[in-house]
Amino acid sequence: MAIIAVPQLTDNFAYLIIDDSSKECGVVDCAEAAKVLDEAKRQGVNLTTVLSTHWHFDHVGGNKDLLAAIPNLRIYGAKAEHGRIPGITDAIDDGDEVRVGGLRGRAIGIPAHTSGHVAYYFPTLKSVFSGDTLFIAGCGRLFEGGAATMLQSLSKLAALPDDTKVYCGHEYTVKNLEFALTLEPGNKILAAKHQWAKQMRREGKWTVPSTIGDEKRFNPFLRTESPEIRANLTRIAPEVDNDNVKIFAKIRELKDRY
Ligand SMILES: [Zn+2]
Repeated sequence: MAIIAVPQLTDNFAYLIIDDSSKECGVVDCAEAAKVLDEAKRQGVNLTTVLSTHWHFDHVGGNKDLLAAIPNLRIYGAKAEHGRIPGITDAIDDGDEVRVGGLRGRAIGIPAHTSGHVAYYFPTLKSVFSGDTLFIAGCGRLFEGGAATMLQSLSKLAALPDDTKVYCGHEYTVKNLEFALTLEPGNKILAAKHQWAKQMRREGKWTVPSTIGDEKRFNPFLRTESPEIRANLTRIAPEVDNDNVKIFAKIRELKDRY
């Protein structure tokens, strides 16, 4: 079993999920088919499955080319985004099982960035693929859902075991951490993560994966109850009034303008 990040476009990730026993692999999101097919070949595995997290072009733009190369490909995607994700063969809902060779995972419905966004959780790999909903130290923009919906979606991911690895859709980590520090400058774990992430990028390395447990320690979108964040927000926006959804919405609004 292995998970391999395949960089796509400028800062996207596709991820190969490899099942050693069957030599089959799946790919979570694909914008550039050639790079994904090359990596599967290099690993000596057969690509049989695509797991699309949401309909945005930088996540599904490679589906058609993959399908042209592998006609019997299985493509999972949310029922709610059926007309928008190219090539869906298996339309799924929250809680549905997905398979890659002998590996079994399940879809978790996490709408708000898009209306049908799903994460894919593989308990045996202790890994979740969070697309553009949960980033390292950040979350996705609210294109097709409100703050309350996103907060609920993130809380479903936060409820996974702390040692669950988080594989997200973009390398946005350094900028996210910089923003987080404006809200919680006293958070030492956050400051240390920022230094670490900058160092990784200087060395040309990726910052994925993170873990659910770590995200709870420094991701401001999972920390609406942090006294320091609340105090800082109340100073600039008294109307948030210690209300979780309002605090979340304000953090998202500040991040949009950051
Ligand atoms: Zn997106």
